[in-house]
Amino acid sequence: MPNSYDVVIIGAGTGGYVAAIRCAQLGKKVAVVEKQKSLGGTCLIWGCIPTKALLEHAHALKVIRDAKEWGVTIPSAAPAIDMNQVQSRKDRIVNGLTRGVEFLFKKNKIDWIKGTARLAGKGKVEIVEGEKQTLEATEIVIATGSSARSVPGIEIDHARIITSDEAIGLKEVPKTLVIMGSGAVGVEFASIYRRFGSEVTVIELLPRLVPLEDEAISAELEKSFKKQGIKSLTGTKVTKAVAGAGGVDIEAQTPDGQSQKLKADLLLVATGRGPVTTGLGAEQVGIAMEKGYIKVDDLYRTSVPNISAIGDVITLGTGAHPQLAHVSSAEGILVAERLAGQDVRPINYDHVPSCTYCDPEIGSVGLTEAEARQKGYDVRVGSFPFGVLGRAKMAGEGEGFVKIVADKKYDEILGVHMIGPRSTELVAEAVLALRLECTVEELIKTIHAHPTFSEAVGEAAHATHGAAIHL
Ligand SMILES: Cc1cc2nc3c(=O)[nH]c(=O)nc-3n(C[C@H](O)[C@H](O)[C@H](O)COP(=O)(O)OP(=O)(O)OC[C@H]3O[C@@H](n4cnc5c(N)ncnc54)[C@H](O)[C@@H]3O)c2cc1C
Repeated sequence: MPNSYDVVIIGAGTGGYVAAIRCAQLGKKVAVVEKQKSLGGTCLIWGCIPTKALLEHAHALKVIRDAKEWGVTIPSAAPAIDMNQVQSRKDRIVNGLTRGVEFLFKKNKIDWIKGTARLAGKGKVEIVEGEKQTLEATEIVIATGSSARSVPGIEIDHARIITSDEAIGLKEVPKTLVIMGSGAVGVEFASIYRRFGSEVTVIELLPRLVPLEDEAISAELEKSFKKQGIKSLTGTKVTKAVAGAGGVDIEAQTPDGQSQKLKADLLLVATGRGPVTTGLGAEQVGIAMEKGYIKVDDLYRTSVPNISAIGDVITLGTGAHPQLAHVSSAEGILVAERLAGQDVRPINYDHVPSCTYCDPEIGSVGLTEAEARQKGYDVRVGSFPFGVLGRAKMAGEGEGFVKIVADKKYDEILGVHMIGPRSTELVAEAVLALRLECTVEELIKTIHAHPTFSEAVGEAAHATHGAAIHL
């Protein structure tokens, strides 16, 4: 039967497309239904890739502005950003990568069914828009992802009150930008548009920026943002936002209960993302849901046999599930291997790295100091500042530090938190250390090349034993 498959996957984001490739590698006949014009989902089209491309532009502008420091003579006027060039370079990168996924589909003989999918009973997926047909599947994997959402009372108009979907495509740099929410998305856009020249204010409801990170990281980021001229209003709640021709009038309530009025060209709502399940028919086929998310067990089985779900759309029922590209891909690979009959083990979410590509960058894995104390560990910590490193001095990027949280009793590393240059790369070593249940002693004995940024990780381990060499 031409439209009968071993596995039909709904959604070609980093969860769905990776699951498809792994299924195909393991000998399955696979189709992926995707309603967008290109493959790759949020990460490639609206998320990780476009934002990091914009951040590279912001970094380039910073280096060029500091040309004198580097001994580079730039004639005439002050350097400025050309948003048309920025957008076309970003689009080229996105298009190149989405076409790359198309190539991988062809290479692995995966059928891309263009359209919107709906579950239509046991082993059936109906394409309701696009290439209308009904597919038959032994196994179905839902990977429909997430979309930006607002908070009650703040209505997104996609023109003045925008989401990250619009913020990645601005053709002009706003003079004033207020950002609601200081999670990864909020602080990355703060870094991008501040460097491009906007007056940026970040409003965060909780008492500190990047509230899921270790407290020391939040404090360092707030200090750096202040230096860069980014205003942080923490413990502050946006109560009203009204868009008009001249901008957005915003009202906020400060921690002492006072009302504060702000005006901005744009308000970026970065308060989180919700699951995409509208029209999917999940409830109709009996799939258990929780607050709109698809409920799965630790091997991503839904409550209905032969239907799995992965990525941003799921909940494991154990608190917030990390909405990250690498998490969705890891879950996709696990599901593919389970469907192929392999012996798979649940993912340990304590070992998932979290990277925020603001300036300075943040990379972290494992327990924060406060979480470790809450769990009853006899905690010891050690930190090492990048500013002392020769390599960081050469790069002119001495902000931040690496902090290790360890258990005094067994010397096990419980968490590693870093803010500063290359932190989103350096965190990989920490992820492996946690996965291998490394002790601080083992990290101390691991030789770090000189001169590198990674020496900060080695030195932080030394510092945890009270014996940093260069402090
Ligand atoms: C601005 C921003 C920056 C980000 N940066 C990072 C980062 O740096 N690192 C990181 O790890 N994560 C980042 N993320 C998060 C990351 O993008 C997501 O966690 C990841 O894309 C989730 O993958 P997914 O496969 O679960 O879903 P998605 O990528 O959302 O893919 C779901 C796909 O399903 C399709 N779909 C939905 N319903 C249907 C249907 N009924 N029929 C057919 N197709 C359907 C959608 O069109 C979409 O293509 C960022 C997100 C944003 C918004």
